Amino acid sequence: MDLEAAYTVLRERGAPAYRVEQVRHAVTRDLIASWDEATTLPKDLRAALADAAPATELVLDGQQESRDGTVKARFATADGFPLETVLMRHGDRHAVCLSSQSGCALACAFCATGAMGFGRSLTRGEILEQLLWAARVARGRDARIRNVVMMGMGEPLQNLDEVLGFCGLANDPDGFGLGARSIAISTAGWIPGIDALAAQPLQLKLAISLHAPDDALRERLMPVNRRYPLDQLMAALRRYRAATRRRVYVEYLLLEGVNDRAEQADRLADLLHEHLPGGCHVNLIWYNPTAADLEASSPERVERFRAALDRRRIPQTLRRSKGADIDAACGQLAVRGAQEARQRRRAEREPA
Ligand code: SF4
Repeated sequence: MDLEAAYTVLRERGAPAYRVEQVRHAVTRDLIASWDEATTLPKDLRAALADAAPATELVLDGQQESRDGTVKARFATADGFPLETVLMRHGDRHAVCLSSQSGCALACAFCATGAMGFGRSLTRGEILEQLLWAARVARGRDARIRNVVMMGMGEPLQNLDEVLGFCGLANDPDGFGLGARSIAISTAGWIPGIDALAAQPLQLKLAISLHAPDDALRERLMPVNRRYPLDQLMAALRRYRAATRRRVYVEYLLLEGVNDRAEQADRLADLLHEHLPGGCHVNLIWYNPTAADLEASSPERVERFRAALDRRRIPQTLRRSKGADIDAACGQLAVRGAQEARQRRRAEREPA
């Protein structure tokens, strides 16, 4: 949904100023899925908008609902790139996990998206459209979206202009009206983006996917660490804290026998006490296994890791995986979609 293209249609037709507000409200408040639903607008204007700025550009290519209320959607862009969006329910609260790119270039070892390679970055309109889809599903449950996390496919800080453009649209008090503090940007540690984010007036949340307390292990799990090793990353986070005074959220997937030993919890605590004293919160994440040769930590190991952080007074929360029965780990559904599309294309090329 390209709102700017819609506003251009209004300008070119010399529409009165109040039409801008009607269009914005139709899209971000009434959550229209087609301009035909925007009944405050005259018919000829709806037709012009449908031509120049279709209300939905993403094609819904599959949707699954988990027993726990998680809904995962697989979309394709108009030019055929797969992406996915996950709506999560925590009690009455609904949050949505959005993709910023189709695929990802950073190739983290634990991530199905990383295995898929990079397709292309998404536009702000394509990111907004994922939010609007989730808001419609939530509306069907008499609920609203309370939080957005940019933690789906892609590295958001490699697509910063479009991600920030989207955040502005989601945050617009005269539009979707989501508080900036309810929007979290999660990065694998793309330092130029962290510095750029620190200079932003929007009070967005920053989450850093750390997953390892030392360079050797982090390089194995996250190749981006070769480019931006931990000392540089921690220096960037210190600059971010100094500029914004905002807390940094540290994401840490617990992987059996890989990064979940008590001494690794101690090293993590050392790192955070040294660089982010009093300014971070650790989210321990139960791994939702992908095709990679990695397993989720056992409950006993998770508890030992948590206890070690508690002893060191590092605030932490354990995030249980959502939608384990529906391929809800990052990239799983879209990867399956990409595989199916490849198989379909191969079958078309090689008729029986
Ligand atoms: S975890 Fe995030 S940054 Fe790493 S490969 Fe997956 S999508 Fe990319």
